[in-house]
Amino acid sequence: DALGPTICVGEILVEIVATTTGTGFAEAQPLIGPFPSGAPAIFIDQCGRIGGAAAMIGAVGDDDFGRVNTARLARDGVDITAISVDPDFPTGSAFVRYRADGSRDFVFNIAKSAAARFGLTPGVEATIARAGHIHVMGTALTMPSARAVIETAVSRIKARGGSLSVDPNLRKELRTEPETRVLFDRLVAQADLLLPSGAELEAAAGVTGEAAALHRLFSRGVKEIALKRGADGASVFTADGQRSDCPAFAVQETDPTGAGDCFGGAYVACRRLGMPVAQSLAYANAAGARNVTFLGPMEGAGTRAELDAFIAATARK
Ligand code: ATP
Ligand code: MG
Repeated sequence: DALGPTICVGEILVEIVATTTGTGFAEAQPLIGPFPSGAPAIFIDQCGRIGGAAAMIGAVGDDDFGRVNTARLARDGVDITAISVDPDFPTGSAFVRYRADGSRDFVFNIAKSAAARFGLTPGVEATIARAGHIHVMGTALTMPSARAVIETAVSRIKARGGSLSVDPNLRKELRTEPETRVLFDRLVAQADLLLPSGAELEAAAGVTGEAAALHRLFSRGVKEIALKRGADGASVFTADGQRSDCPAFAVQETDPTGAGDCFGGAYVACRRLGMPVAQSLAYANAAGARNVTFLGPMEGAGTRAELDAFIAATARK
């Protein structure tokens, strides 16, 4: 059913943020959190919050860190019935501290947390059976359990005429195994929409140069490519040769984490609600920019009304 919800599979985390810039966590220091987080969770939260039908597949622990996430997703309209509650393992977490140059230090607890412990339960299968679109976050491909669910979900959804979007988002901080790369290339070849950020475009295509990378990806069957350029805005290219550019909003960046995920959640939701490329890009560009003005990776996800207000009130660069 093409009208079924957008689903996303992967890590659900809390993020705890150092309130001072500096290097790492070797000394006691002020922290703020827990904030709901995890790239797939941020994506699906923005998708639901802007008004798209959305459902999340993943796992949390039976603890407050888990409830921080499920309560937020439910509040923002996301179907949480396929989020399992692990009785034995705690909710995943990420501690993050920004250095003065904008780079980040992390302490992750993902691979051995509830975040990585889920599978094809009847509830998950039922959600896959209703889905009209699946969004794959590169970060989730580092977890074997998520890889298995994603492969099954993608083949079932595509087989009945649903669509697939992929955000490469293979963070250098997360270890990438050779089999992850093989699956990633297979997903890119099946993707209807690709949402790379900066150099991820060329990495996904396996060639250098923007034009060559776009050409290679379109010849593999990708229909639409939304290219994120951080503080320089974003562009969308379509297989029929159209191009749409959006200058960035001039904002004060408080916390850059989650911008790409909010951009993607808004873009996919708007396209699936039937909006044209340019209007969807305008909302996505606003969703990414608004999110960096909030401390916490998911705190700036906007409703359609909030994004309309942000667009009306904020100057472009
Ligand atoms: P993430 O760090 O979440 O993985 P990303 O690298 O995938 O992010 P970005 O390009 O950083 O994605 O951000 C996505 C979009 O959000 C940009 O294309 C832009 O539209 C908007 N955006 C991000 N940062 C800024 C900023 N500092 N000023 C204005 N807009 C921004
Ligand atoms: Mg990214």
